[in-house]
Amino acid sequence: MANLADQELQDDKEAQVWEPPIDEQERSVADHIDESCHSLLFSKPCFFGRSEDAKIQRLKQLAVMQEGLNSKFKVIVSNLLHSDDVSPSSSHWIEIITKLSWEAAEISNPFMNGDPIDPNAYIKVKCIATGSCNESQVFKGLVFTKHAAHKYMKTKYEHPRILLVKGGLGQHLSGSISSFNRMSEERGYMHELRFIEDSKADVILVEKSVSRDLQEHILARGLTLVSDMNIQRLQKISSCTGSPILPSDALLSHNVQRFRSFHIDNILEEHNLAGENGKKKSKSLMFLEGDPNSLGCTILLKGSDNINLKRVTRVVEYSVRLAYHLTLETSFLLDQQETLSKFLLSPEMLFDPRVSIFAKTGDDIEPDLDSPSILVLVSKRNARKGIICDPRRFLNLMFYQNIDVPLAKFLRDLFSQGSRCNACEELPQAHFYYYEYRKIQLRIQLKRLSVGKCLPGETNGYIWMWSRSGVNEVSKRVMMSNAARSLSFAKFLALSFSQQTLLDSLSSSGHSFLQFFGLGYMVAMFSYSDVATYTAVLPPPKLDVRISLKTSWLDKEFQNEYTMNGFDNAKTTIGVGFHKLLRLNRVRWEIFLQALVWNYRLQSLVLHDYGAYVNDNVFIEVSSDEEVDKDGTVIEASNESWFWNSFEELRSKSIVDIEKEYMSKADIAGNFSQENLLVVSKIITEEGSRFRVSLRDEYCVVSDYEEEISSLIACALACLSNDGKIMPLTRSINGSLENSFEKDQVSKQDVSSEGPKFESLTSPEILVTFGLADSNGKAKYSVVSLYAKDFYDFRNHCCFSELDYIDSLGRCEPWDYAKEGKEKSIFFKTLNDRFIVKEIQRIEYESFVKFGPEYFKYMKDAYELGSQTCLAKVFGIYQVIIRQPNGHKEIQHNLMVMENLNFGRNISHEYNLKGSLLTRFTTTTGDGAEEVMLGPTFFKDMKNSPVYFSKDSKHKLQSAVTNDINFLHSINVMDYSLLVGVDLERRELVCGIIDYFKQYTWDMTYPCCIL
Ligand SMILES: [Zn+2]
Repeated sequence: MANLADQELQDDKEAQVWEPPIDEQERSVADHIDESCHSLLFSKPCFFGRSEDAKIQRLKQLAVMQEGLNSKFKVIVSNLLHSDDVSPSSSHWIEIITKLSWEAAEISNPFMNGDPIDPNAYIKVKCIATGSCNESQVFKGLVFTKHAAHKYMKTKYEHPRILLVKGGLGQHLSGSISSFNRMSEERGYMHELRFIEDSKADVILVEKSVSRDLQEHILARGLTLVSDMNIQRLQKISSCTGSPILPSDALLSHNVQRFRSFHIDNILEEHNLAGENGKKKSKSLMFLEGDPNSLGCTILLKGSDNINLKRVTRVVEYSVRLAYHLTLETSFLLDQQETLSKFLLSPEMLFDPRVSIFAKTGDDIEPDLDSPSILVLVSKRNARKGIICDPRRFLNLMFYQNIDVPLAKFLRDLFSQGSRCNACEELPQAHFYYYEYRKIQLRIQLKRLSVGKCLPGETNGYIWMWSRSGVNEVSKRVMMSNAARSLSFAKFLALSFSQQTLLDSLSSSGHSFLQFFGLGYMVAMFSYSDVATYTAVLPPPKLDVRISLKTSWLDKEFQNEYTMNGFDNAKTTIGVGFHKLLRLNRVRWEIFLQALVWNYRLQSLVLHDYGAYVNDNVFIEVSSDEEVDKDGTVIEASNESWFWNSFEELRSKSIVDIEKEYMSKADIAGNFSQENLLVVSKIITEEGSRFRVSLRDEYCVVSDYEEEISSLIACALACLSNDGKIMPLTRSINGSLENSFEKDQVSKQDVSSEGPKFESLTSPEILVTFGLADSNGKAKYSVVSLYAKDFYDFRNHCCFSELDYIDSLGRCEPWDYAKEGKEKSIFFKTLNDRFIVKEIQRIEYESFVKFGPEYFKYMKDAYELGSQTCLAKVFGIYQVIIRQPNGHKEIQHNLMVMENLNFGRNISHEYNLKGSLLTRFTTTTGDGAEEVMLGPTFFKDMKNSPVYFSKDSKHKLQSAVTNDINFLHSINVMDYSLLVGVDLERRELVCGIIDYFKQYTWDMTYPCCIL
């Protein structure tokens, strides 16, 4: 039930993440619309809902930014002019085009009217071969080459009413000669004329032709008529001004809209070549200006002939588009900067050229209009069900073209509540939307806010932005400026992906950012992460012995021993290199020996009154074998006074000799104790009762640490290693100091009753007993080694020397992995992290007795034939019995020593997949999908952030698991687990099959039947 509370906590936290921040500046948004928000104006950005300080700040930023952008912009224009071969004075044009482009970009606002977002649909360039190039200008309206129907018609109006007419006028039945028809025709155009008069239109623009009669009437009424406009131009005027086009046969009940201005100019194009008659041609241009918010503008290029101006036109069209895109991007970046400034060490870095439109080339400027697209991998999955609704596919998004949409439209579509998923029929918020670019993944998640939490301005379509850094740190909430809303979604992706690395490096908290967009009740969370492609790693056939071991614990232990006791020369023996544990035991032995010697000397001084002699030299070691008695005569060093020998001399003797010669007397610690000798007596008591086996040389010593069960196995193996000439066992002594043990006598066949005993039990088992005997004369420890020889060979095969193995087992610590287990079982990890010592059930032990030979054969074959296996290697199986000295109580453990699959790795989480699922896993992934999901928890985690791994890895893992399952089934094992550890650092999934010791028996079916 604790899990339920955890879950609730989790949910609470999750709900918190979605909560939009309160906007301190918030006003009643719905009834207040800032004019500036309807304009893209760079110089007049959207300040809506922003404080005075914020406005000033934003203006400052704009100025800085524009300056920076401008110089880069000029370089681009210059390159373009150069490549387009504009003559003669292209340097003039750089300044002019730059100025015109920014101006045109600022006053166009395609988003206002709907979806098309290519500015070239709204910004036209008109060449006029007159004047100087400095006279080129941006006209905030439309310009057509057109003249009035009659030369006496008025050509200039301020605030005229302009009527747009579809089709022709006055031509209902033209060509007819019957008087009846003639009358009806007259009635027809009289009707049209009356309507024109009623509408109070000043200017009439007609798609097709107008009959001469009607033209005369219109002229007579002092109105201006332009015929043969063609429908495209009318539509353009209509879409830019919002004025309707009225069909000629239904000129009723419509108001005619006022325009700002209308005029027709006749311009002599003096730069063009003269015509055949030697006269320069003139051009009649019609200028139309809509109301303040109308769309579209025309750039008028002057100062050269038409051929040259056409070349300039290409450059202008290109640079206008660039300027327009830069305007949108900059606006978005400004909005974003406002939401991020709280978290960033230097928010202005957002305008670093690396993340802007100039991103790719650094100093070598080249706008990305040259490759105006972004190739992303898109997919959609149902978050709750974990199913893939849209499988991953590549999408080439052209900036501001084709399927690209403004960011605001993308968000609106995402939020739209009516649309249910085609695949799962659920709402958008049930899904994760993924966009991957190179190695970065954007995940979009949606949520509907609870009632009463609605963000303001829903009806006006206001979109709010904010950010989070981690769960708790939230930015202020900012309304997206109009220009930012028009930013292309593709461009938004390109910007965001290129920002991520930089953002992470600028983050002051170290958290990565969550980006939020909200409209009304709907909120979208954008989170970015690296796309993780993992490699599956199987247990290595050969263990790498070169990996350096963790020694922090060793240093600590050494410090304790060393500083506590202050024995200088102890340090020298620990040395460097391998077998540190065994060498540490040697250090302990020396400390013990020194403590003992010191204690004896003190005891002897006090009890036997050596005072006269040692007056001034109490603790000075006597430097020879010789001893001085009370009378000052030199006497032979005797066993009774061995402790007066120099410590160096004692040290040079073997452990077994010292124990045999000097410590055969009981009462090591003696009765002598004082308060200040507590440490000494503690060492003597603790270390004195230890069992010790020297290996190889005097500096590798194996000792028993009763609470660290692997040390007992190490002792047994050390004893055993003498047998079969596996390793020279120099000597072995009994933990009891009373009983010494002759090294030469050690053998399996002939074991002295005082020393470790070896017994061959039933064929695969060897029994070793050692340690201080209890009251019944039984040794303290018994260790049964199962398949000792086979395991020994197997270990050798895996590059592990016996000394390394014993050294590793020398010390261990409880491991918390067993927490999840149901029974209180032993679970240890060796201190060097290399092995896991795990208690197994009696039934598992017995199973292994049966299938052991097959296990060894399978593993050997796998390595020799190179077939894949995933089985976590088992290096030894033992039965350890510990007898308590004060009673008859015996504790028995069945233990398994297994490789630690996670050795030398940093595993962030681990998943355990049971055998039944494993079987399914091997059969369901053949569809080419590169994702594999494992275990219920793993499965859940993968839903949130799937792990991809390479096809190679998948095949390797699959074949290994298949081999292993076949093998395990052949030896009647149905119960096993696949352990999968995630190594985030190395991007590896560390896999291994564990717990495969239990053979299927009839009693196992029993619980199933009950269920
Ligand atoms: Zn779906």
